[in-house]
Amino acid sequence: MYAARVRVLRQSCAPLTFPCPTCGTLGHRKDTHTRRVRDIAFGQIAYIELIVGEYRAACDCYKTFRSQVPGIEPRAEYTNRVRDAVFDRLLDDGMSIHRLQQSLQRDFLLNLSDGFLYDCLDWKVRHTDMPGYRQWTINNFSGTLCVDELHLGHRTLLLATDPLGNFPVAFALVSANDQGHMRRFLSNLKTHGFLPQVVVTDGSNLYPTVLAELWPAARHQLCVFHVIKDINARVFDALRRLRRKLAQKRGRKRRRADRARTNSETASVRGRPKRSRRTSCGSIVT
Ligand SMILES: [Zn+2]
Repeated sequence: MYAARVRVLRQSCAPLTFPCPTCGTLGHRKDTHTRRVRDIAFGQIAYIELIVGEYRAACDCYKTFRSQVPGIEPRAEYTNRVRDAVFDRLLDDGMSIHRLQQSLQRDFLLNLSDGFLYDCLDWKVRHTDMPGYRQWTINNFSGTLCVDELHLGHRTLLLATDPLGNFPVAFALVSANDQGHMRRFLSNLKTHGFLPQVVVTDGSNLYPTVLAELWPAARHQLCVFHVIKDINARVFDALRRLRRKLAQKRGRKRRRADRARTNSETASVRGRPKRSRRTSCGSIVT
């Protein structure tokens, strides 16, 4: 059976003194700690055996602190190279979470949990320069804003995108999908300087009043997906009504035929000659 090669690299960062991570005052080493951090290498199980120092703080920021190594977050079980590999597949290659897990397992023998992948996303958001990104979106905004709500169990993700520029503009995770949260979300966009000429939404009644208040000059359009969904719903509704009517008509005809048969049998039993009668639609029933 194929046994994967395990590679362990030693990395040490434990000088006698180390600057406090907050204010930079040098602290003196009181101890060292060793731990293994999973790294990435093609076809190998790669670890870094990391030795860090624990320092007595000479400032008021902490009592003690540990030395920090570039590329490895404090207490992290994986190096930032693993996190970057996750983002390359997610953002550049457009892989789903499941495909991404399979790809990293096959190439780097990394067995990553869903929890770690979500933690990677959280880490990326925390390290993103949000004010800088917001300014970039304002500078590159096409004038068309698409707003949508995604229902995620107990929470709702409010999402604004630029469909022509093809980039996300803003998002907010809220506890309820109501007009109050939507108004606050869109008001923030207005405060940041977004002045859309066109706003594309689904058919939800959350939007018309709020959009008329915030951007009265903007045109409000339904997105193509929801227009087609509405048309389909109306077509299926009409078909359902037609089928119900046809079924009722067939039922009436059957009942009329049954009645006619019963009458004719009764007449034969009594020995009376059968009489022809004219129906409402003009055909002759005997
Ligand atoms: Zn300090």
